[in-house]
Amino acid sequence: MAKVIQGKEIARRINDDVRSEIQRCSRKSGKKHLPRLVSITVGHSEDAEIYMNMQKKTAEHIGIDFILCELDASITQEVLIEEVRRLNEDKTVTAIIVQKPLPEGISHDKIIAAIAPQKDAEGIHPYNLGRILRREADILPCTPGAIMKILDAEKVDLYGKEVVIIGHSAIVGKPLSLMMLNQMATTTVCHLGTAEKGDLAAHARRADILVVAVGRPEMVKGDWVSEGAAVIDVGINKTGDRIVGDVCFPEVSKKASIITPVPGGVGPVTVSILMRNVSRAYRSQNVQI
Ligand code: NAP
Repeated sequence: MAKVIQGKEIARRINDDVRSEIQRCSRKSGKKHLPRLVSITVGHSEDAEIYMNMQKKTAEHIGIDFILCELDASITQEVLIEEVRRLNEDKTVTAIIVQKPLPEGISHDKIIAAIAPQKDAEGIHPYNLGRILRREADILPCTPGAIMKILDAEKVDLYGKEVVIIGHSAIVGKPLSLMMLNQMATTTVCHLGTAEKGDLAAHARRADILVVAVGRPEMVKGDWVSEGAAVIDVGINKTGDRIVGDVCFPEVSKKASIITPVPGGVGPVTVSILMRNVSRAYRSQNVQI
């Protein structure tokens, strides 16, 4: 039976470190204000609100000022980009997060690209993503950062291991694959093409470390996983009144050595990496500390 990873516990340890780092940085620089994270929402979404409230609670606990910038759903892309540029210029703003979803007609990619890279709380600006290639990244995309932190906390050695990632989105699967390569893992990335024209289960079965980030409830079955694999389930899927991952937990937990549950696995750690990004942005904006 797999060890079930307690994401909240790992998150708590990151949060403690981030809080100490902010206090140290603030003392040394004589800065009068706390790091400030501005959360932009456009229109209303209940799901986004739940996630945002979690971020707000964690930020305030750590010592990050969390400011809401709530914009009307009728805003145009151009005006939203201007608002982002205004926040880029505002010296009291440390970092910016753009909550999804955005209304139709507004490109998430274009809005993220308008954020100053040093204020990119989610670590998904093209500049910050590109730095992963060169092993220079300081501000990391939050979910891949969380996955690497979980594996590190569980002392999973990646060197020469078979890592299989299912899902190749620009914010999870792709950057994660580079981060795994940087740790000298042998990395395979699967996607819809693999499911339709390849043998997805066969790839999954080869994995020492299997990461699933697709958004399909309980897609990965017990017979897709080899005995003793480490399984990281990123998916968050609502089915009726339950939230389940992309992995069929009752089956897979019988074979894996460690597994992240949904909820309570990757999610809380992702929020903590967001806070760590804000703290790193704060430090870099207060140079030489
Ligand atoms: P996304 O942008 O929709 O990407 C999903 C990926 O899955 C795509 O690369 C897609 O490939 C691939 N895919 C679709 N159907 C597939 C299939 N049948 N077999 C194999 N691959 C398939 O989603 P995302 O933003 O990466 O998020 C993925 C999941 O993680 C969602 O459930 C999301 O809610 C969750 N999530 C959780 C956290 C967290 O903190 N826990 C953070 C972010 C996301 P194609 O592009 O080729 O279609």
